[in-house]
Amino acid sequence: MPHKCPIKHAACCKQWRLDNIEKVKQDIKQWRLDNIEKVKQDKKQYNQSDNGKKIQKIGIWKHRGIITDDYEFLYEWYNSINNCLNCGVDLINGTGVSNHKHLDHDHTTGEPCIVVCGHCNLHILK
Ligand SMILES: [Zn+2]
Repeated sequence: MPHKCPIKHAACCKQWRLDNIEKVKQDIKQWRLDNIEKVKQDKKQYNQSDNGKKIQKIGIWKHRGIITDDYEFLYEWYNSINNCLNCGVDLINGTGVSNHKHLDHDHTTGEPCIVVCGHCNLHILK
């Protein structure tokens, strides 16, 4: 039964979703399958946004075993560095170049250490 009060209506809708969680999940899954191109385009657009880039970068760090109490702070610090902290070369974002920005970390503890270029990451700090 619809409620005149929007708060009661919202609570009623929330309870209905909780009571029908499997149907809701199935409907969402079906909608995504029916709108696969829109889902891909929305994901691509999100990944290019500032928040999307941050979430992707932090996810990569976690996957590679980098451990910190504050990933947001680490991300801000990482982004603030424009030169290799070992050799001073200008750093760029991207892949496959020697001055690509890398976050070096202790592979035993997972603790992040220094932002360096690809060359220093491969040849000097090992
Ligand atoms: Zn360097």
